[in-house]
Amino acid sequence: MNNKINLIGLTREELAGLLVQNGFEKYRAGQIWQWMYVKGATDFAQMTSIAKPQQQRLSELFTLARPHIAKDLVSFDKTRKWLLEFPDKNRVETVFIPEEDRGALCVSSQVGCTLSCSFCHTGTMKLVRNLTAGEIIAQTLVARDGLGEWGKARDSGLFTNIVMMGMGEPLYNYDQVSRALTIIMDGEGIAISKRRITLSTSGVVPMIKRCGEELGVNLAISLHAVRDELRDELVPLNKKYPIAELLQACRDYPAASNARRITFEYVMLKGVNDSDADAHELCRLLKGIHAKVNLIPWNPWPGAKYETSSNNRIHAFAKIVNDAGYSSPVRATRGQDILAACGQLKSDSERKKGEKVWLGQTPP
Ligand code: SAH
Ligand code: SF4
Repeated sequence: MNNKINLIGLTREELAGLLVQNGFEKYRAGQIWQWMYVKGATDFAQMTSIAKPQQQRLSELFTLARPHIAKDLVSFDKTRKWLLEFPDKNRVETVFIPEEDRGALCVSSQVGCTLSCSFCHTGTMKLVRNLTAGEIIAQTLVARDGLGEWGKARDSGLFTNIVMMGMGEPLYNYDQVSRALTIIMDGEGIAISKRRITLSTSGVVPMIKRCGEELGVNLAISLHAVRDELRDELVPLNKKYPIAELLQACRDYPAASNARRITFEYVMLKGVNDSDADAHELCRLLKGIHAKVNLIPWNPWPGAKYETSSNNRIHAFAKIVNDAGYSSPVRATRGQDILAACGQLKSDSERKKGEKVWLGQTPP
């Protein structure tokens, strides 16, 4: 039984406290933090500013272990997907989407999802459990390891942005997500700023304000429909928090401005939500919000009942939205050959019969 404490996921204060408790000097916390989050150390023996006997003692008590990489796939378009397995055998996916001079890591917040949006592959999984902050951060570390981007000057690597758009609903695991993002934003560590982080939610209205006030990250809303009746079907959370309430939360979002717009994600489903009338209604709804629209061609997955809108339809829709003054890029489909595109993520983790779901704060 390995009962060493994993240091990934502790706040700087917690790390210092733990070290002092175990007889180390407090200032070691800053050094170890740098080794972990700037240089990417995976082993205490790499920490050359710490004397050998102390390295030894650290490795007896603590670990910096990453999750096991069960799969590491690269798409023809260079999108890369890691299937990660945690010690309890649960698995999640993390996707890196490189662009010319930047790149975003799409990070998961839960194993599966409790919500069941009808067009989303992840939604067909039962929620197995929330990820811990350490498990969320570890996804960024695995990506930096795999991309060979440790120790590079800030912003010179390709991994510059984070999107909380992987498996799960981040605002249903807010405590761990917020702890993880706070650590990721720390200027002396991974140092990805709030302006380069986007959190996507299907619309957990009561948590949106807190997210803006406490984290100040960019917000993306999975809107997908402009009438409650249809949105109830596509995004069942709408029955709890209907469109008008959701849009009010967006109007009030503390971290939005003309320079930092809220992204409205809109998946294009043939004959379902893609008419000209839908586009006009969308523009009407967005009035008064610092908004841009991201049109996502729907990505198919086995057993789904939808079809993607035609290219012509998507572009006609985009033009209406654009003419109304909202930027409306059509999101390029990336990594489809490795099932890494939006809404295609699904791991084979299933909750075992009778197994308790952990949805709490601290890992048991
Ligand atoms: N649970 C959060 C975070 C996941 S983000 C949320 O729903 O916002 C993933 C994005 O991809 C969401 O906008 C989601 O609605 C969208 N999506 C889900 N399934 C999709 C599919 N099959 N094709 C395209 N986009 C999809
Ligand atoms: Fe969950 Fe988001 Fe998929 Fe809906 S779209 S099922 S909220 S991951």
